[in-house]
Amino acid sequence: MASPEIVTTTSEQETFALGKRLAETLAPGTFVLLHGDLGAGKTAFVRGMAAGIGANPDEVSSPTFGLIQHYKGRLPLTHVDLYRLESAAAVDDLGLEEMANGAVVTIEWAERLPRPLEGSVRVTIEDLGGDERRIAIDPFYSER
Ligand code: ADP
Ligand code: MG
Repeated sequence: MASPEIVTTTSEQETFALGKRLAETLAPGTFVLLHGDLGAGKTAFVRGMAAGIGANPDEVSSPTFGLIQHYKGRLPLTHVDLYRLESAAAVDDLGLEEMANGAVVTIEWAERLPRPLEGSVRVTIEDLGGDERRIAIDPFYSER
């Protein structure tokens, strides 16, 4: 199994570029699970992913009211933020498995998932201080 790719970015733009590059390679049915604290750069990464599938990155925000947002490019990108979710039962109600039907689904705060999702790329972003972020991309990640 390939080891995760680990990159240190030094600007939001670099993190965006990394998300863009990843999204360009993804097939429908893939989950991209984002792990990392508040302000790590998860949404910045998703903005890059939107650009990578050919959607408008400016439409991507931290979903404050809506928990789920949809963007359309060469394929659909579904953006889920679990930050405000109260319980594992509430996550179950979202029907995440079905969302991946024909789409790429990216999930912020994937730490809150009650159980593993098949077909996941795991992205972990760690704030190293200042504008430095350590980003690990594990394309063969499985929680099993
Ligand atoms: P999250 O979604 O993880 O809470 P955001 O993407 O909303 O984080 O915010 C990340 C913040 O960190 C932004 O204000 C961004 O400008 C800043 N930042 C500084 N350096 C970086 C970097 N290397 N990568 C991503 N964001 C960075
Ligand atoms: Mg966010």
